[in-house]
Amino acid sequence: MGMAVARVSRHAGEAVRRGHPWIFRSAVGQVSSREEQGLIVRIVAEHDGQREAVLGAGVFDPISPIAIRVWSVGADARLDAGVFRERLVRAIALRGELFADGATDAYRVLNGEGDRTPGIVVDRYADVAVLRIDGDATRAVSPLLLTSLEPILRDAGVTTLLERIPSRDAGGRDTTVAVRFGPERSRVVVREHGVPFVVDVARGQKTGAFLDQRENRRRVGELVAARARAGLGTRTLNLFSYTGGFSQRAALAGATVTSVDVAAKAHATAQESFRLAGLDPAEHTFVTADAFAWLAEAKRKGQTWDVVISDPPSFAPSERAKPKAISAYRALHRSCADVLAPGGRLVAASCSSHVSLEDFLSTLDDAALGRSDLRVLESFGPPPDHPTVAPFFEGRYLKLAMLA
Ligand code: SAH
Repeated sequence: MGMAVARVSRHAGEAVRRGHPWIFRSAVGQVSSREEQGLIVRIVAEHDGQREAVLGAGVFDPISPIAIRVWSVGADARLDAGVFRERLVRAIALRGELFADGATDAYRVLNGEGDRTPGIVVDRYADVAVLRIDGDATRAVSPLLLTSLEPILRDAGVTTLLERIPSRDAGGRDTTVAVRFGPERSRVVVREHGVPFVVDVARGQKTGAFLDQRENRRRVGELVAARARAGLGTRTLNLFSYTGGFSQRAALAGATVTSVDVAAKAHATAQESFRLAGLDPAEHTFVTADAFAWLAEAKRKGQTWDVVISDPPSFAPSERAKPKAISAYRALHRSCADVLAPGGRLVAASCSSHVSLEDFLSTLDDAALGRSDLRVLESFGPPPDHPTVAPFFEGRYLKLAMLA
């Protein structure tokens, strides 16, 4: 099959050589065929009319701002079912190594760009896997590329594969669910470092849970346990608690936890997970409220906590939204610092891909917090089941800083 050729700017060519997986529309010149959506193309850099060697192969999208998702780099780059198969096998082998102790059965199997399968994400929840395909062009070529997905996942013990498809009416925010193989499933009990919790793979956020925070949930459990051993206070406030992952780990380590989220349904799931882990939800507080308004009220009442966790939804959907996002983080962190007891721990996270770690730390300075006693102890990025390629900063959207 003759591959179409896409000519790209010299600058984009350099980025491709470095391993950047996206080529934006403005960098793409002539494409030898524009008829199909989801065309597999050979990428050729061109400057001053001089044609250079083939740089790689990728998927061309005539509509999206991300014009090409680059899969393979090099003069003999291919893109076919064999390439996908090879990447998937490698991805599964890495997770086999990462989760060899058997204590965790919920993790990202395939991290799209980061596992060099741009736009294709697979999460695993025990024996259920959830597929997400980003971009119409990637969706169009997926029947051609993903032929080995079912046999390989079945081999790895997956009995149901669901697909979360972004629905257009909701601007991609909402998803519909399709069964790719196996019986339909929604509620799944998984384990993270041996701790059981409930995931709704059909209706939950993202593909069901925020798997990217797994190691941070563990860290919160460890810090609460260490404080308890040292005889320090452990009253914990978990803001934007969703299904209570951080809350559960803090409670297991001995904390009394207040969880705040606007979604009442998320609290119901959190309470179910508390019970599964042998915790009594009645000993903890679950508040359905807007976190910002609730924090103002807590400050007015003079309430404080020893550990405050903040993990809000993304504030910066685009580069343009970044300045507003920075001010929003500063205001939120101020409200967190206002209810943090002296000697307490502040755990602040951001999942905005346009806000770098340094940008994020700038929202935790003394002026933002309105106090000058806090130090940054540690900061963390995404966990190893969410690998990224070095030049692709967008992949490292998750940041978490611990202050004391
Ligand atoms: N920490 C969670 C993930 C948080 S996701 C975990 O580890 O699983 C962000 C959460 O913020 C969602 O559950 C959403 O319902 C909630 N949320 C969004 N806006 C909010 C607001 N203004 N006040 C309180 N919660 C909010």
